[in-house]
Amino acid sequence: MSTEAIVIGAGIGGLSAARALKRRGWTVTVLEQGAALPTTGTMLGMWPAAIKALDGIGIDAQARRADGWTTISSAAGSGLWTPGQKLVTVPGGMEMNLVARPALLRALADGVDISFNSRVDGPAKFPGAALVVGADGINSGSRRQLFGEQFAARSLESVAWRGTVRGAVSEYGETWAPGALFGITPAGPDATNWYACINADHTFAEPYLPRLEALFGSWKGPVREVMDRIQEGAILHHQLFETPTLPSFVRGNTALIGDAAHAMAPFLGRGACEALVDGVALGRSLAGTATLDAGLAAYDKERRRRTQRLVRASRLMGKVAMMRRGARLRDAAVGGAGRLMGLRTKRL
Ligand SMILES: Cc1cc2nc3c(=O)[nH]c(=O)nc-3n(C[C@H](O)[C@H](O)[C@H](O)COP(=O)(O)OP(=O)(O)OC[C@H]3O[C@@H](n4cnc5c(N)ncnc54)[C@H](O)[C@@H]3O)c2cc1C
Repeated sequence: MSTEAIVIGAGIGGLSAARALKRRGWTVTVLEQGAALPTTGTMLGMWPAAIKALDGIGIDAQARRADGWTTISSAAGSGLWTPGQKLVTVPGGMEMNLVARPALLRALADGVDISFNSRVDGPAKFPGAALVVGADGINSGSRRQLFGEQFAARSLESVAWRGTVRGAVSEYGETWAPGALFGITPAGPDATNWYACINADHTFAEPYLPRLEALFGSWKGPVREVMDRIQEGAILHHQLFETPTLPSFVRGNTALIGDAAHAMAPFLGRGACEALVDGVALGRSLAGTATLDAGLAAYDKERRRRTQRLVRASRLMGKVAMMRRGARLRDAAVGGAGRLMGLRTKRL
């Protein structure tokens, strides 16, 4: 069979697929609408499955020592709060792998043929290609072309602000309140990631800081520490979306991967990791079968159910974190479960 592949989109999913396919002998061209890879972006936590996927495409422990990659231990005192109470304290010392999005993209793009400024509307453009990979993100034209407009991303009626501030803070974790949450994670030895979400069906105009102050200014502990360091110009603001449940990640000779296949709410921090694992799984599936159809079916079988469960779990996590009715019961249950597991609680 021909081994020429077109990948639409040079995000984490598209580049990991390109790399995985190239290592299996495919000739791959990546078409990216942007003029270059991004040079700024926040830190991403890499779950063990993503680290294993990186190993499988030659971005090994040695490569992960480059600038932008870091491994840190969770600080003692990390946990889960409501604005007035610490529900659970998790033990320190858990290892986490973090990477800045630009550093991850740089590593994935190394040796990959990318054509920038190349916007394409979907796989229909490439009737002659053996394989097309739709890796064009949350608003994927590939998904809509293959499955119809009813599979356009749908709003989760929540918005997020996020960014990175300088320095470490005293404690990490999430604070849950009715209709809102604020999360804080390490972003390396001397930086801190933060994200704040509320239920809302529209985004808000700049300046963002006065609104964040009105929403979260009275929250105590590490939220206050972070709020004092946020700079207006460094805030990103998005509406949150997810992909409706697709009947397949494959149609004809096209596979959808990453957010094009299964965009999810950010509450489990899994989207980038799953995009990476998709790309590697696609390369492996196509190498392990006699025909393209069998390889694509194997990819769909390995990845669809699992990632669709994560889409549901991420949505549920956001709902539980920001629930308006029943929050007291939830807090009592979470605190009680924490105490049973030997995780401390305290009033702030
Ligand atoms: C607020 C927020 C916080 C998040 N935090 C985390 C986190 O901490 N950890 C985590 O794992 N994930 C996180 N995610 C999710 C993560 O960012 C995504 O799941 C991940 O980037 C998906 O990668 P992708 O390659 O599928 O899509 P994208 O990164 O969106 O890449 C798609 C690429 O396709 C290109 N493209 C689009 N259309 C076309 C076209 N027509 N022609 C050519 N090119 C095109 C785009 O320019 C882009 O480069 C977060 C998401 C949000 C919204």
